[in-house]
Amino acid sequence: MIRVAIANQKGGVGKTTTAINIATAMAATGWKTLLIDLDPQGNASTGIGIAAADRLRSSYDLLVDEATVAECVMPTAIPGLDILPATVDLSGAEVELVAVENRTDRLRNALARENGYDIAFIDCPPSLGLLTLNALTAADTLLVPLQCEFFALEGLSQLLQTVERVQQRFNPELGIIGVALTMFDRRNRLTDQVADDVRSCLGALVFDSTIPRNVRLSEAPSHGLPALVYDHACAGSRAYMALARELIARLPEQRKAA
Ligand code: ADP
Ligand code: MG
Repeated sequence: MIRVAIANQKGGVGKTTTAINIATAMAATGWKTLLIDLDPQGNASTGIGIAAADRLRSSYDLLVDEATVAECVMPTAIPGLDILPATVDLSGAEVELVAVENRTDRLRNALARENGYDIAFIDCPPSLGLLTLNALTAADTLLVPLQCEFFALEGLSQLLQTVERVQQRFNPELGIIGVALTMFDRRNRLTDQVADDVRSCLGALVFDSTIPRNVRLSEAPSHGLPALVYDHACAGSRAYMALARELIARLPEQRKAA
């Protein structure tokens, strides 16, 4: 199983939208896919159609009580896509785990015992705290959604420092599979300029596919559906399908076969 963390400590940059739609695209391509909601806000769980009242066990149980993945996952309406939901309890996990040994290894250990999926995507909260550390420690690679706005690159350097720290202390194998530009608006000269700056700064690390600002992407979660199901032909859905194809091409060969 390939484990991909989707992280950026900024809120509202498109992490959850990317997690839901990339996971859906992968499932539609025939990959047995797990979406792990590691944000106490539970937006990925809601957006994929799992109401808060229906979440029986969650990423909280997995991290704090060492429940197994199999005990916590739920099926979604999308064939081949399961979700490990989050509940508000998760906001207490950082405090509850503070005195626990190996507190950054909880997710990694749980995923190491799980064999039923080809790929897992971990939707991270908007911080670089213990939850995101668990995700980065468990992950083979990191996908960074970056909103085309003025301070985009500033936040990125902080994230890259954290990645370095995780590589040194917890997970030397952690890679960065790419940076996905989100909420791109070609009519806005600033976002255009930012996209150019990011590309000249990060080069090939940036995916060719940019995700446009698209109202269908923002409407879909309120229907409990990925945009790719809600309106598969909209510009946002097409962009996420293209991003998924690029992602597959970048995945490490030996792990794809495994
Ligand atoms: P994060 O998980 O990083 O906080 P979200 O994916 O939840 O970010 O996105 C923040 C808000 O912006 C949500 O309301 C979402 O529906 C909306 N959104 C995300 N990506 C787009 C996009 N490409 N076009 C329009 N709205 C978007
Ligand atoms: Mg989110």
